[in-house]
Amino acid sequence: MNYDVVIIGGGLAGLTAALHLNQSGFQVSVVEKNQYPNHKVCGEYVSNEVKPYLKNLGVDLDNMECPQIDTLQLSTHSGQSITAKLPLGGFGISRYELDAILYQNALVRNIPFFFGTATDIQFLNDNFHITVPGHQKLKAKWVIGAYGKRSILDKKLNRTFMSNKSPWLGVKCHYAYDDFPNNLVALHNFKGGYGGLSKTERGHVNFCYLTTFESFKNYKNVAEFNLKVVSLNPFLGQFLRNASPVFEKPISIAQVSFERKKPVQNHILMCGDSAGLIHPLCGNGMAMAIHAAKIASECIIQSKVQSRDFIEKAYAKRWKKEFRNRLWTGRQLQRLLISEFGANMAIRTVTKSEKLLRSMIRRTHGKPILV
Ligand SMILES: Cc1cc2nc3c(=O)[nH]c(=O)nc-3n(C[C@H](O)[C@H](O)[C@H](O)COP(=O)(O)OP(=O)(O)OC[C@H]3O[C@@H](n4cnc5c(N)ncnc54)[C@H](O)[C@@H]3O)c2cc1C
Repeated sequence: MNYDVVIIGGGLAGLTAALHLNQSGFQVSVVEKNQYPNHKVCGEYVSNEVKPYLKNLGVDLDNMECPQIDTLQLSTHSGQSITAKLPLGGFGISRYELDAILYQNALVRNIPFFFGTATDIQFLNDNFHITVPGHQKLKAKWVIGAYGKRSILDKKLNRTFMSNKSPWLGVKCHYAYDDFPNNLVALHNFKGGYGGLSKTERGHVNFCYLTTFESFKNYKNVAEFNLKVVSLNPFLGQFLRNASPVFEKPISIAQVSFERKKPVQNHILMCGDSAGLIHPLCGNGMAMAIHAAKIASECIIQSKVQSRDFIEKAYAKRWKKEFRNRLWTGRQLQRLLISEFGANMAIRTVTKSEKLLRSMIRRTHGKPILV
């Protein structure tokens, strides 16, 4: 089967690129490992910068009753805290819902989906040949790699970050807890990690955290880790004692890597987490994935008049210009906040100046994506 573009991975980056390219008249298809809807480990706070662009693609999130979030709370291990207004703000929506909405929009436009794991991509004679077991071989002029943080394909492509073990794991669960304010996203540090709390469209509170394997390994399971480590932060302790889990059990992912990756590899335009994951404390990974999809789509649209080499270089340049500094700032912030001393010092400093905190938020976020 022949397409202009095959997108590997139907998460936020992949689905957005599919809608954009379809709107521009390209024959596009998506390969996705899992059926929709499904839960993903994610903080589920989405920056408002994506709203106008998604609306332009026909996805109007204003019709949904998502909590509108305009306030950030930060706390140290011991519970010293600061609250600040978010310059642009955002909204709370579960990945279960958000990915499914984009998928439904793609179905309405008859975009074909191949459900299965892409296991190989070969680039021969200026065309890609994609293997998805259980399906006929797919052929395409362009491939967008939107398959997230880590995939079997990264191994096939010999991407360097795959040879290094990542110490990070992520855990997420939804809770019923009425006392949590609708307009708040809270980021609480604990020994060896930090967790975010914010409400979703169903009124549940999403609690999602990132921690090191080193901190986690001495405990039997998530429940024991929550009790003995996470709950030592007074805000998280109060939350976990009073909130009731909605999931049967938390979901988790291991090997979350924040290492540098290339935005173009083997002629594939990498998009979203496949090109680089920002530290979750910045709350901007989803917006970046959606924005990268726009950039990749715009570059591929230029292929009508430009060479492959030109498009690849243009994409890499635009990707770096838009995201490189945000990723760098995210890395520095994470390094600072993960240690008890660093977190205390940072919060003492920003307590003296809300302006400084707002400037840090601006450095990790973009402006509303222009349409
Ligand atoms: C703990 C944690 C908390 C976070 N909190 C936030 C937050 O609050 N706000 C925010 O904006 N960002 C947050 N992020 C970041 C955000 O989740 C990601 O940046 C975002 O999901 C990236 O979207 P994506 O489309 O690149 O990848 P994904 O959404 O992961 O999509 C990738 C898709 O590819 C599919 N796939 C993978 N391999 C294959 C294959 N070989 N073949 C076919 N399909 C494949 C997967 O099934 C998946 O559906 C957080 C991340 C973590 C780890």
